Amino acid sequence: MPISENAKAVLEKRYLIRDENGQPTETVDGLFHRVADAIAQADAVFDAGADVAATAQSFYEMMTGLEFLPNSPTLMNAGRPLGQLSACFVLPVGDSMEEIFDAIKNAALIHKSGGGTGFSFSRLRSRGSTVNSTGGVASGPISFMKVFNAATEAVKQGGTRRGANMGILRVDHPDIMDFITCKNDTREITNFNLSVGITEAFMQAVEQNTDYPLVDPASRQITGRLSARKVFEAIIQSAWQTGEPGIIFLDRLNRDNPVPSLGEIESTNPCGEQPLLPYEACNLGSINLVRHLKKTDSGWALDRDKLSDTVRKAVHFLDNVIEVNKYPLPEIDQMTRSTRKIGLGVMGFADMLLYLGIPYNSEAGVEMGRTVMELVESVGHQASQALAAQRGAFPCFDQSVFRDAAPLRNATVTTIAPTGTLSIIAGVSSGVEPVFAYAYIRNVMDNTHLIEANGILKDVLVSRGLYSEALMQQIVEQGSLAHIAGIPEDIRRVFVCAHDVSPVWHVKMQAAFQTYTDNAVSKTVNFPNSATQDDVREVYELAYRLGCKGTTIYRDGSRQEQVLNIGKVN
Ligand code: UDP
Repeated sequence: MPISENAKAVLEKRYLIRDENGQPTETVDGLFHRVADAIAQADAVFDAGADVAATAQSFYEMMTGLEFLPNSPTLMNAGRPLGQLSACFVLPVGDSMEEIFDAIKNAALIHKSGGGTGFSFSRLRSRGSTVNSTGGVASGPISFMKVFNAATEAVKQGGTRRGANMGILRVDHPDIMDFITCKNDTREITNFNLSVGITEAFMQAVEQNTDYPLVDPASRQITGRLSARKVFEAIIQSAWQTGEPGIIFLDRLNRDNPVPSLGEIESTNPCGEQPLLPYEACNLGSINLVRHLKKTDSGWALDRDKLSDTVRKAVHFLDNVIEVNKYPLPEIDQMTRSTRKIGLGVMGFADMLLYLGIPYNSEAGVEMGRTVMELVESVGHQASQALAAQRGAFPCFDQSVFRDAAPLRNATVTTIAPTGTLSIIAGVSSGVEPVFAYAYIRNVMDNTHLIEANGILKDVLVSRGLYSEALMQQIVEQGSLAHIAGIPEDIRRVFVCAHDVSPVWHVKMQAAFQTYTDNAVSKTVNFPNSATQDDVREVYELAYRLGCKGTTIYRDGSRQEQVLNIGKVN
């Protein structure tokens, strides 16, 4: 198995089954057998004569060959009594005490199982409006978000990972200004990522520099008007200061809503890549692109046949996950099975570019993003159609936007996940992000630190007779190769890290992947500490122009806790 010691450490710490004394009762190899066997079982549901053992073997080989990995909850829970396999959920938050606290309870159950939850708080009446039953005044969405946050804090996801939430408020909610600044004190609402739900009408008002109406969701009354530019500036100012809130383009999420008759999409999962209907869950999986290269006479090239083959197997795998999944609520079971959304994506994209000798921040890099994702998307849809022929289309197909086209087994097929843990297991760059640093220390959890150095760079330096400990030390300290004179220019041009990539190239790459992704793309646009608010505005406008579904930015040093620390040993 090509799994590194670091990867084994992560798997042992978080994923292996343990006895009551905390001792692992399975091996890493046993984990992959457990997962492959459990997921292959679904074949028998559709075909009594299916060769389940053969499917299990092919799933096992695909995972242990690090060609494809399903999201963390599948690795943790498949073949176990809990059996909750999805990373992403969206729960409705209705405008009553019962509905608000039901959502908190349901979120706690999901967090316990390793899933993350997204909520739109846009239906909650605004702060200061009337509460009919008591004649009192409503406390508004932000005060309730604090209750959700405290509940999340108390549920530590079974000791594996803390619950993650997305909180969304529409830009025309009367409490929008409070929402934009509610995390400026970075000790507040720490278990949430926040995004402002932006509408097309708002973006037009920004362009034309006009006011727009604020609407109370309970009374549907216009309660006031704000200057769109002032609100846009407030979002930029806050994001520049702390990285939050992000923005999501609600009308774009709904333009791509495959079954509008089931409802409106109001929220995404915690990291933003998966728009979902209320009570819908989605399971993700990611293909490791580094394992889909072949050696040719002129160097490395994308192995299209192998990639197509893995896409087909992965779609089969993820559709099976929907079948064997044990959902935390009957409503989620019903909703998720009616659309059968899956989210197949990629990881190791930046590493792949290093092998190909293509800079991430170049037209050729962006073109390669399009090439790869176009293939995953088209073969993924073919595979979902082939499954529909065997297993039937997803139950709501006849009410879906695809009803006049070939039946699909899954209402969505592709999503680009962050792959925070999966990329460590596979030992590659995460998702479609550039390499963060070529030698660094990673804070995994609590006080565990893993030292990681980029093997691709090391091999190149060794082969050119340039490798030395001192040079690696310099890379650790500087975090970038850009200013190290001892490294030739052709290497420096290709081995760029996240901070060498200008924000505009980050957005161009996100947009390239979005073009061929049914759901959305998890991407952080990294800014240097010296970036200005104008730089942030430019990126937001570009993301909007290029068709992205949202944007998350992070300015280096703007938050105290950073997951990745360049050059810090402790
Ligand atoms: N997620 C979560 N808690 C975490 C990390 C992730 O709930 O600590 C959920 C969340 O919905 C996120 C999704 O899992 O958007 C995918 O995250 P990622 O790809 O990083 O997960 P991995 O499968 O690599 O653990």
